[in-house]
Amino acid sequence: MSGVDSLEECYGDKSHKIKALETGLSSDPEMNWRVSSLDRLALLSNSDSHSPYPHRLGREANVFNLKEPSYRELVNAIVSKDPSKFLMTIEVDPAYGKYHWTGHRRCGVSMPPEEAMKRGNKCPVCGRQLTKGVMQRVEELADRPKGFRPPNAIGFKRLLPLAEIIAECLGVRGETRLYSGRVWELYMKLVNSFGSELNVLLNASLEELERIVPSKVAKAIIRVREGHVIVRPGYDGVYGKLILDEEEPARPADRRGQTSITDYLLR
Ligand SMILES: [Zn+2]
Repeated sequence: MSGVDSLEECYGDKSHKIKALETGLSSDPEMNWRVSSLDRLALLSNSDSHSPYPHRLGREANVFNLKEPSYRELVNAIVSKDPSKFLMTIEVDPAYGKYHWTGHRRCGVSMPPEEAMKRGNKCPVCGRQLTKGVMQRVEELADRPKGFRPPNAIGFKRLLPLAEIIAECLGVRGETRLYSGRVWELYMKLVNSFGSELNVLLNASLEELERIVPSKVAKAIIRVREGHVIVRPGYDGVYGKLILDEEEPARPADRRGQTSITDYLLR
């Protein structure tokens, strides 16, 4: 909803015909749950490529359990928000995006929305206007506190692309890190062993992973799956940064809304 503050503002008297909203790479359900007017909608998570590289596809996904893979069943699962049919969405951690927090790239300054609002959106180093992040936009639209979960909400799982996890473990940095031969060698080994990137990220056990890749990579995959990693939020065009260092404290308390994978397995 860029440039407007509500569905109604954009679609007028046809708004009721809209049944679902795509949350995009820069937001996840938890951020949308803070806006009560979105409660009636199903929150979907799709992802296109944005580049010719296939590993950019499928970073986000919807997980369904359908009687048959038909159009009717699919639409019904989305519109009804039946949790036995629409199991969850898979989300790239939005903090990873280039505009999550508010900040000023040139001064290396970034901050959460509350802090930016307190400072009147002025950079504490140079005094210029800060570039507003997505979280601040959420803060402006929200009518609920952080961490609120509507009772009929579909759960989600926060993941990071496998190539990013491998690159971070190998210490491969820079804009071209995801195209490094060392990263791709491990990526292909994993995907060939487990059939798909999502199966590696969601289901492979630590022991199975350690048979294929260095223990550091295996452990990092599990840590991402369990939500035990920190992403230093992106700001003003700077990507967020995955922090895997075991010595780092656990994820900050305000990012813990994620449902654990066992919740889905038990359902
Ligand atoms: Zn500045």
